[in-house]
Amino acid sequence: MKKISITTLGCKTNQFESEAILNQFVKHGYVLCNLNDKPDIVIINTCCVTNRAEYKSRYAIRRALKSISPGGKVVVAGCYVNKGSSFFEKNRKQLSLFPNDQKHEIFCHIEELVEDNPQIFLELSTDSYYLHTRVPVKVQDGCNFFCAYCILPYVRGKPISRPIRSVIEQVNTLAAKGVKEIILTGINLGLYGFDLENYNLLYLLKEIVRTDIQQIRLSSIEPMFFDDDLIPFLASQEKICPHFHIPLQSGSDIVLAKMNRTYSTTDFMKIIENIKTALPDAAIGCDVIVGFPGETDEEFRKTYDFIEDLPISYLHVFRYSPRKFTKASEMKWDLNGTVSKKRMQSLLKLGHTKKNEYSKYLIEKKVPLKAVLETKEKEYWTSVSDHYVRIFLKDDNNTAENGMLKTVVSRELKTDNEGLIVEEFSHD
Ligand code: SF4
Repeated sequence: MKKISITTLGCKTNQFESEAILNQFVKHGYVLCNLNDKPDIVIINTCCVTNRAEYKSRYAIRRALKSISPGGKVVVAGCYVNKGSSFFEKNRKQLSLFPNDQKHEIFCHIEELVEDNPQIFLELSTDSYYLHTRVPVKVQDGCNFFCAYCILPYVRGKPISRPIRSVIEQVNTLAAKGVKEIILTGINLGLYGFDLENYNLLYLLKEIVRTDIQQIRLSSIEPMFFDDDLIPFLASQEKICPHFHIPLQSGSDIVLAKMNRTYSTTDFMKIIENIKTALPDAAIGCDVIVGFPGETDEEFRKTYDFIEDLPISYLHVFRYSPRKFTKASEMKWDLNGTVSKKRMQSLLKLGHTKKNEYSKYLIEKKVPLKAVLETKEKEYWTSVSDHYVRIFLKDDNNTAENGMLKTVVSRELKTDNEGLIVEEFSHD
């Protein structure tokens, strides 16, 4: 029996695609293993969104080259392949390279089968899942926003949506197999339907909530898509997790304009307030970039103060690094590394405080949380809840199982802001 190992870097879309690629191999008799088991095939699904993501991708490839069985193959796929690197040239003979639009062909190429169905990503679907309890479902690819710092429009191409029928078929199959939670993913999810007639993300969600799937989570959505139609719908649907990840990127209007973002800080604050009015307990997380070309102390201070005032529950902080092809890579960028590190650290600290405050709020308000149990760590089952906090549930009677959907209520903070110790919710 042939063995396969897969490593995924980057976003939820990549995670979905890894599941789909793996599914093709497993259906044909391959067994999933880890790198220590000398796999016959190792797949590295790469990312190039930051310098660090590229470094991690190269590291994973080097490890794969050391671990592969004699005669085995190391497959490198995804955004970093699209971008290109001298690293690939140096190792060309040992690697099989697949850019994003050829990921669906990996199995046929490796098995040297004739590829007679050259479909695009829309056929890269999976009804089995090996890597996740909460299953990513890819519905969209590509972006045409061309934010000044971002390489994705160059490596993922223009927006393209998966037909609604194909999405619903997959969701129904997953629900029938006992999957409780799906995560809708896309490179720019809010652009769903952009290339289809009379469809948008709201229509898609209206269809998905009618299926038997019990919990639906949205991956990152750009702020301008939270309009007066979408917000009330999100608030009216029990199945949709009250967790929204909304990229901010900067709290300075000058920097936002340079980044080619299409909203101001005033617009952003209004959107967050509208969501919080409709869903007061919702978890809202933001991405922010520090050290964008020309970001002064004053502009950074504005970002810090703006985020401090935002009613959010967590923060993802990235340090700017120039990406080939992008408009920002041509801008003057002379920020001292120590300064950008300090800025990053102060925002990480602020993010930590926000997370802590939100966790305390959930405890005080006794907000019921729904979570699909994922793994058991010592005496606790753990998972990420619908409100995007990690929960730890004691299972004294040994009745819980992986994949069960539980409603719980928070009791106390776990040490180091790690999450919440919870117990099962009861109505009395
Ligand atoms: S919206 Fe902007 S940041 Fe997001 S993928 Fe598109 S170009 Fe990149």
